[in-house]
Amino acid sequence: MSSKKKCAPLNRGIIFDKIDPRDFAKIDFMYCCEQCSFFIAENEGCNMGYNTKNHLKANQLKAYELHGRMCFCRNHEID
Ligand code: SF4
Repeated sequence: MSSKKKCAPLNRGIIFDKIDPRDFAKIDFMYCCEQCSFFIAENEGCNMGYNTKNHLKANQLKAYELHGRMCFCRNHEID
């Protein structure tokens, strides 16, 4: 008799990283699509084909105000 274990499905959601308010105040870091080389301003799209919704500046700042976290895009490109 085989004893196959069932694997629980991975709960993969978007990751929001906590940001220290002191760092947010002091460091001029890149956190939104509008600062990325792949951003298409005309339609708020992404040349890499990613969904920009959570990475747009307004949404990033809103998330930070609500829970002190931001959703960084791992493919953010700076020229
Ligand atoms: S690569 Fe990421 S940060 Fe850059 S435009 Fe696309 S979704 Fe936004």
